[in-house]
Amino acid sequence: MVVEINPIAVFVLAFVFGACIGSFLNVCIYRMPLHESIVFPGSHCRSCSTPLPWYDNLPLISYLVRRGRCGSCGTAFSVRYFFVELLTALMAVALTWQFGLTLSTLGYFAFAAALIVITFIDFDHQIIPDVISIPGVLAGLLFSLLSPLPTLDIWTSLIGAVVGGGFLLAVALGYHAFTGREGMGGGDVKLLAMIGAFLGWRAIPFTIFFASCVGSLVGVTTMIRRQADSQLALPFGPFLSLGALCYLFFGERLIAWYLGLL
Ligand SMILES: [Zn+2]
Repeated sequence: MVVEINPIAVFVLAFVFGACIGSFLNVCIYRMPLHESIVFPGSHCRSCSTPLPWYDNLPLISYLVRRGRCGSCGTAFSVRYFFVELLTALMAVALTWQFGLTLSTLGYFAFAAALIVITFIDFDHQIIPDVISIPGVLAGLLFSLLSPLPTLDIWTSLIGAVVGGGFLLAVALGYHAFTGREGMGGGDVKLLAMIGAFLGWRAIPFTIFFASCVGSLVGVTTMIRRQADSQLALPFGPFLSLGALCYLFFGERLIAWYLGLL
């Protein structure tokens, strides 16, 4: 018997599920760098500490209804809470669109969620928590064993983790040897190992190339606009994450197109 599922309903459910997870990702983004529990206490206003009742804790909706303010003290919440929920919801829809109702969708949604948390924590604190990236490498290896995708098996995943982490480690050590300064953090090394584990080694050159190009472009633009000194430290993690997501959605097609040009 084939169960007919309305495709619109599937996307609506993916959106709602994604928004709820996005709400949890907000908690991770704010609490993990402060080493606070991500479970207790429940969501509360950072200003007046009033716990948010369930109807003020609905993803996306509560922000719109309350116009981004605390229902108790009126303090404005950052629009980023809303943005992270919307981004996660759209990610769930896009992955369902790309991979259907499969294990791949679930695995890559967990991967994308980790990248979203890493991106915002790296922007705020210039750190990438080991508690995400190291289990992330293991999760990627495990995912490759279960993944139905023909492009990912345990070997492409394992080589991806080693090549990804190894390349950035070599760059970091080389930079340190030449300049005596810390350029790239160890967090980026573990992040690229995680990306390699989830996407396979083919993703590594693309992700590095993409992150370097977009990162340089953003860095130069920021320096021109701020007329700042050349010591601007821009986190690399968000660009690696963005490169990995671009590869996840378009990488295979981009590589096929590029090889077709040769
Ligand atoms: Zn408040």
